[in-house]
Amino acid sequence: MIECSNCETARFLQIVYSRIRLTDDGQIHEITERYECTSCETRGEVREGENGTRIEGGIRDNDDLPKVRA
Ligand SMILES: [Zn+2]
Repeated sequence: MIECSNCETARFLQIVYSRIRLTDDGQIHEITERYECTSCETRGEVREGENGTRIEGGIRDNDDLPKVRA
């Protein structure tokens, strides 16, 4: 799940922008989602495309983090 790396929670995240780009034959080429944290105003962007998922800015995917609180 995407969360704010500053607040360490997804609770305040809002999607403020999303866009789907299609290839010429109508296949999904790339999905862009821009997030904003309503608590600390951190912003970030998730881009999913042929080469996998890229996350930029002040957000992160907490599934990638070591599970220390389990
Ligand atoms: Zn935050």
